[in-house]
Amino acid sequence: MLRCKGCGEQTPPVDVNGRGFCESCSNVRVHKGYTREELSEAFDRVKDRENWKMPIDKSLAGELGAADRSAIEAAVVFYAGCVPTFKVEGGLCGAMFTRVTAPGYYVAVGA
Ligand SMILES: [Zn+2]
Repeated sequence: MLRCKGCGEQTPPVDVNGRGFCESCSNVRVHKGYTREELSEAFDRVKDRENWKMPIDKSLAGELGAADRSAIEAAVVFYAGCVPTFKVEGGLCGAMFTRVTAPGYYVAVGA
């Protein structure tokens, strides 16, 4: 049986949209107006692939808009307990990217 990617509960009851989240994770707003599904997806964009509790240092293509920033900020606060910093930087060939950094869960909880 599949487990919900948001809360770890077994799905069903319902995988509403076929993306691996149970009904409450898709619908209930748990933090700053975001659902667990939205927070999980935003956190996936910046978290350390090997261990999500590690410090965050991720460059995303382009200049992140306000909606992306606020979703990522909410997600990092929710999962890692710390506030991310956004810095827009230019690459060698003129491409812009946004570097997202945060101390990460271990530092935030003092573990
Ligand atoms: Zn769930």
